[in-house]
Amino acid sequence: MVARRRIDLHTHSSYSDGSDSPAELVDQAVAAGLDVIALTDHDTVRGIPEAAAAIAGRGLALVPGIELSAQVIDHPGATPRSVHLLGYFIDPDHAELHYEMERIRAHRADRLRLMVGKLSADYDITWDEVLAGIPPGATPGRPHVAEVLIAKGYVPDTTAAFAGPLRADGPYHVPHYAPRLHTAIALIRSAGGVAVLAHPFTDERSGAIDHRLPDDQVLEGYRALQELGLAGLEIDHQENSAEGKDVLGRIASELGFIRTGSSDYHGAKKPNQLGDYLTDADQFEAIQALGTGSGLITG
Ligand code: AMP
Ligand code: ZN
Ligand code: FE
Ligand code: FE
Repeated sequence: MVARRRIDLHTHSSYSDGSDSPAELVDQAVAAGLDVIALTDHDTVRGIPEAAAAIAGRGLALVPGIELSAQVIDHPGATPRSVHLLGYFIDPDHAELHYEMERIRAHRADRLRLMVGKLSADYDITWDEVLAGIPPGATPGRPHVAEVLIAKGYVPDTTAAFAGPLRADGPYHVPHYAPRLHTAIALIRSAGGVAVLAHPFTDERSGAIDHRLPDDQVLEGYRALQELGLAGLEIDHQENSAEGKDVLGRIASELGFIRTGSSDYHGAKKPNQLGDYLTDADQFEAIQALGTGSGLITG
């Protein structure tokens, strides 16, 4: 019997909110026995050259990728929902994509500074301390604030920070700009990439589609996204609920979405471990066949 190819299509490096440099991420992926990883940093492709250099001679293949921030606004005046869109085999030099990534990162920095300002009323924490932990050029995110809260003994780990002071519905949270999901899908597509919705069902209120709607409306919502160019759903993910995986599985079968599984590894900044969830080879081949912006980088 041929061993299953171990394919993990969602990982973060220190170019966003992961703790490992791209080279360390590659070391970890080799140690985890992976055959393919996608580097999918938030709103940046800056880690790809280092990861590409690091895989030489390691027997690991690299998918150039991104996790693009997006938002969904159901109707005028509705509270925007933050949504993440994975893009595989994008052209990392695509000008429009760069413009949008730059814009999101600038807003992310402003937003994090505002959050730290609010937090500083109740916690002994400064923006300079947070900034000191963000590598030059990296996409700033709440895990960078979590690091300082952990170092100062306010919370034991990132998970506790996100359940407490950093929670999205808490008093210190500030949202950041992101393009609407339809714009994000179009952008990934115009960069030659394959768009896959990240962790689409963490709970029924989150995600691109409001899963509290009747089944036929949920299905229509996904069909509309598919018509816009969405190719796949990240179903096997730590944060999708068990019920969510069932719902998404049925939708993927009915509409013919590619089904992926991935760890969403962030190194020490999240408990998720490389290879916790994997993508089947046939699903990966379907992604590879659709991607035109770049190809699989082999060592
Ligand atoms: P932000 O991008 O600043 O809104 O922060 C959200 C990011 O923090 C996501 O990419 C998550 O993967 C990451 N993160 C790390 N640990 C957690 C956690 N325990 N709960 C939620 N998000 C987390
Ligand atoms: Zn993250
Ligand atoms: Fe995400
Ligand atoms: Fe992620």
